[in-house]
Amino acid sequence: MVEPIFDYQFRLILIGDSTVGKSSLLKFFTDGKFAELSDPTVGVDFFARLMEMKDGTQIKLQLWDTAGQEEFDAITKAYYRGAQACVLTFSTTDRASFDAIKDWKRKVENECNEIPTVIVQNKIDLIEQSVVTADEVETLARNLNCRLIRTSVKEDVNVASVFRYLATKCHQLM
Ligand code: GDP
Repeated sequence: MVEPIFDYQFRLILIGDSTVGKSSLLKFFTDGKFAELSDPTVGVDFFARLMEMKDGTQIKLQLWDTAGQEEFDAITKAYYRGAQACVLTFSTTDRASFDAIKDWKRKVENECNEIPTVIVQNKIDLIEQSVVTADEVETLARNLNCRLIRTSVKEDVNVASVFRYLATKCHQLM
């Protein structure tokens, strides 16, 4: 008998305004060692990554790529349905993308139950051009009950911790 290669599987969604770095995060997630899979029954590509927890548990994280078709309601609904964790991203240099986080969070709450969520402040390499203060970002994360992680996909800062944090959270909820 073939042993399953993972103990648990969780599905993540990746949300935020355009140009904040979502495709870059997805690319980071799928680069090199990560398997690319697709499932014709859902009509979207998905990507999977295996992670080993400290106790040896193997977690499979799955992330869909909607190929930019989020404006279609059916795709949005299918995308959100059954999601178990969420990455909400804004950019350090895009004020509107920060202001939109509250609305994105509300949308997730409407479509999913309460799920572990990380607010990602991306493009932290551009901190000198920041249009948000550290204080207001921390306050927002606290008010929305989300973990805040500051990343630079460009310089590979903290990106893996986003996925590791969510895998750990989902595992704890089992
Ligand atoms: P999306 O529209 O949210 O999917 O954003 P993309 O991933 O396409 O990124 C938009 C632009 O921001 C691209 O030119 C990326 O190269 C750039 N970008 C993404 N992440 C970073 C980052 O951490 N730092 C900087 N400086 N640029 C980034």
